[in-house]
Amino acid sequence: MKIIAIMNHFGVLAKEAPIEELHKKLLAENYRIIYPEDVDDLMELVDNNAKVCGVVFDWDTWSVLLPKNISGLNEQLPMYAFSSQRTQLEIDVDDLGLNLHFFEYAFDAVDEIAARIQRGTDAYFDAILPPFTKALFRYVDEGKYTFCTPGHMGGTAFQQSPVGSLFYDFFGANTMKSDISVSVSELGSLLDHSGPHREAENYIADAFNADRSYMVTNGTSTANKIVGMYAAPAGSTILVDRNCHKSLTHLMIMSDVTPIYFRPTRNAWGILGGIPRSEFARETIEARVKQTPGASWPVHAVITNSTYDGLLYNTDYIKQTLDVKSIHFDSAWVPYTNFSPIYKGLCGMSGTRVPGKVIYETQSTHKLLAAFSQASMIHIKGEFEEETFNEAFMMHTSTSPHYGIVASIETSAAMMKGNTGKRLMENSILRAVRFRKEIKKIKASSESWFFDVWQPEGESLAPCCWNLTPGAEWHGFKNIDEGHMFLDPIKVTLLTPGMDKQGKMEEQGIPASIVAKYLDQHGIIVEKTGPYNLLFLFSIGINKTKALSLLRALNDFKRDYDRNAFVKEMLPSVYEQQPTFYAGMRIQELANGIHKLIRQHKLPELMFRAFETLPTMVMNPHAAFQKELHGEIEEVYVDEMIGRVSANMILPYPPGVPLVMPGEMLTEENRPTLEFIQMLCEIGAWYPGFETDIHGAYRQPDGRYTVKVIKNVQ
Ligand SMILES: *Cc1c(COP(=O)(O)O)cnc(C)c1O
Repeated sequence: MKIIAIMNHFGVLAKEAPIEELHKKLLAENYRIIYPEDVDDLMELVDNNAKVCGVVFDWDTWSVLLPKNISGLNEQLPMYAFSSQRTQLEIDVDDLGLNLHFFEYAFDAVDEIAARIQRGTDAYFDAILPPFTKALFRYVDEGKYTFCTPGHMGGTAFQQSPVGSLFYDFFGANTMKSDISVSVSELGSLLDHSGPHREAENYIADAFNADRSYMVTNGTSTANKIVGMYAAPAGSTILVDRNCHKSLTHLMIMSDVTPIYFRPTRNAWGILGGIPRSEFARETIEARVKQTPGASWPVHAVITNSTYDGLLYNTDYIKQTLDVKSIHFDSAWVPYTNFSPIYKGLCGMSGTRVPGKVIYETQSTHKLLAAFSQASMIHIKGEFEEETFNEAFMMHTSTSPHYGIVASIETSAAMMKGNTGKRLMENSILRAVRFRKEIKKIKASSESWFFDVWQPEGESLAPCCWNLTPGAEWHGFKNIDEGHMFLDPIKVTLLTPGMDKQGKMEEQGIPASIVAKYLDQHGIIVEKTGPYNLLFLFSIGINKTKALSLLRALNDFKRDYDRNAFVKEMLPSVYEQQPTFYAGMRIQELANGIHKLIRQHKLPELMFRAFETLPTMVMNPHAAFQKELHGEIEEVYVDEMIGRVSANMILPYPPGVPLVMPGEMLTEENRPTLEFIQMLCEIGAWYPGFETDIHGAYRQPDGRYTVKVIKNVQ
């Protein structure tokens, strides 16, 4: 649908009649015409309706101010100014860089005017479409016949079969026709970086402030491996955030490297406070190299930025001080940071090159921008060996990439470019801040309990990244460095009752997992659930309706909780896990039951201590996995883990941070780690439906958990 907005000067016949003619003509050409009431109405329309592809207005009334304002929202949007013949143009509009076309109010010129508007629309679409996507659209439009893979042949194979036809109709013709083989030469190649693919990479690098960008069609899981394979040769030592994504553990399993872990701090809620500055210091690294068997000075470092809870580092400081050849910021969760000034100095690609260092940033485009699943990017700043890097790239890339994913990666970059992208970011930041204020307001006016938000105190929260200043009470971190960590406003952490800021457990509480299950039942998926905290992401896809429905669901939870509804009624999916157990149980009994278990086990303290002392690395992850492949492993109960070397990574969700890495041994000193795992198992055993998913631990029919350890190594 193409929409043209017309702002005319009504009441003057000489002006009304030509516009009326134009209206008819444009309708015949499949445009929809909208007449905004006033300038505000027009701006609202342009801001909120992405299908507007032109604005017609009366120059004599509005002159240059109107197009300037519109351009602030979308500098590419064509504008058509009508003026009566006598008006002189007072300014040279070309100088302003406005996409402005002039017409005179005249009779019998409508065909010519409509034709020029159509050309304007075509040029507009051409200007906003990025190169690869444009080439793909064109290819599909031309409807060429191919005799190569994929075997569905533009969908025709599906249509030969009854079930295939259902599939075809569900996904639609363009999904089929745009799924084409690498042998279509006019689209270039993702693996050779040629043709429109290469143009897309350049386009993306330009948008993301990188020297070089790569599109990855198998997620940041793969992007991380590509970067690591290239930056850390076998035998080298690397610095790895202990709070790393499992793809980095997989990298260390594939490549024979020695890890030294950065140790992030955490607060009582289990929110990770990031890696303190002392961890980046030369002396700390020197001491760790000495303690670690087989380690040498690290060549490469990997840092999760932002953390899972939305904390961003002052990356400038890290880039300047950390003494390694290359630094990789795993920014899977923040692909948008280059498009708002509030993230300046807090992301991998911000600023200029750092002499003698290569900076990598990997982003899951699909996570918080608009792209298909698995869409990911690698951005690089600094000198690197392009051909060797490409060997690592190709090693992890299918020789048959999905062009729909490629086009979506590129289109997400196009969406973020220019003023329209800036508006998208501004709106999502404002929406998040508004939501935060709303929660605070309800809490302040509520006589009993309500959810709280994790954010700086004070009424007037500016829409920016909030510094975790040392000593400030709200964040709950004891030793935070000045100017080091910042909270991203769009990552909203809600707190449930049960624990205060110092980690003191209250008499009564509502564990967050219960709220998460309730929200799930109401069609709202929580991003991450801690013991008493829930994370929500206000990405560009969150509109007013979605924010409101979350607010409503939280209110509904409070209402149902306060009237002490039955579990069966409030959490039917939990009830169904074991109807006999939950029969007659009410929500407050369930909440307090789990809360009591958490209190008994001193969860906050235990979690803190569980991550405080790292297990001992007996062999690196690569060697441990090789042992597993050679069958040199056995299964033991979790309780028998002390003194044994784990073959796998053990990682509970929540908090989604590895507790034990492959090749590591728990010693007596690590008893809290073991107790933490045991506690997670116990909650699940007591309350069906509340089992923690523990990667690397296997639940046996008797309800106990086992892990795989390496034989004959103690
Ligand atoms: C999700 C995630 C990844 C993996 O990204 P995918 O695009 O899902 O493959 C890597 N690192 C971090 C920190 C993540 O959160």
